[in-house]
Amino acid sequence: MADTVVSDSPAARPRDREAPRWKREFAEAFRDAAELGRFLRLADPAGGSDGHGFPLLVPRAYAARMRKGDPRDPLLLQVLPRSEEGALAPGFTADPVAESAALAGPGLVRKYAGRALVLVTGACAVHCRYCFRREFPYADAGATSGGVEAALDAVAADPSVAEVILSGGDPLMVDDRRLAEIVERVGALPHVRRLRIHTRLPVVLPARVTAELAALLAGSRLAKVVVIHANHAAEIDAAVAAAVGRLAAARCVLLNQAVLLAGVNDSAPALRELSERLVDAGVLPYYLHLLDRVRGAAHFEVPEDRALLLHRELQDSLPGYAVPRLVREVPGEPAKSWLA
Ligand code: SF4
Repeated sequence: MADTVVSDSPAARPRDREAPRWKREFAEAFRDAAELGRFLRLADPAGGSDGHGFPLLVPRAYAARMRKGDPRDPLLLQVLPRSEEGALAPGFTADPVAESAALAGPGLVRKYAGRALVLVTGACAVHCRYCFRREFPYADAGATSGGVEAALDAVAADPSVAEVILSGGDPLMVDDRRLAEIVERVGALPHVRRLRIHTRLPVVLPARVTAELAALLAGSRLAKVVVIHANHAAEIDAAVAAAVGRLAAARCVLLNQAVLLAGVNDSAPALRELSERLVDAGVLPYYLHLLDRVRGAAHFEVPEDRALLLHRELQDSLPGYAVPRLVREVPGEPAKSWLA
């Protein structure tokens, strides 16, 4: 666990009044389970665990959407360390999708044809307990400025890359100036057509989607695809809808990927309402992932046969565009496995 580097970046922790609002909000995020518990008026304010090397991190804007006094709140369950994380479970490992084997160089993951994934940073604004990268050694993998430069050099030398995916951690944890440098550099590569950004920040810290961010994306010649990450309808409030609206106005295609999580969203009504709320906000449900079997997350797993039944119920009750594809990532496969 010592190598866990999904963490908050010191560069994004200023408390001074000159910093952008999102950075000040991030600086005030909950980092202590007891403090979060008191905020939520929970009987056991400390939660059940110290985090097993993956500490609690929850922006207040996200915690404000949790139900007070409810230890089973579906947003809280995604972020509160629990004692079950310490239980050993067969088949659950530190690197469940073999990302280390897919590292093609510093800061660069190559899994699928035509696409290159750049690890912009190891930092996130929230620590999701089920994250498949919760033990990923970001520093060793080159999720640094130097690593990003090396990764973009490699993309420049490979004309087969049509799409660059900015990932992490969360790529929107870097500030606008650095992000603009990266977007400009990618846009200058004639063979690259699309820029995809995988980010949970519009959901957990919507203040990050500033007018400046939208403008820098709008200014790129690249087609832009922003894939957000929400697992439950209660995550999508008016501020989130406004944030994705700013991205839509910047001509970004908006998609959502969710993870099927026991106790959080493993019912047809919960999944249906998530899809409805996403579509209301202008975001199409893209993927519903089966859990990647990362160590410490076994209590979130939903069996595949049950997942298929839930997906069938979605198909029977929603228009096709509102039904996410049910997928599993199988290490070494040339694409995600489509289950339904
Ligand atoms: S799921 Fe995304 S936002 Fe959550 S900890 Fe993992 S990389 Fe960070």
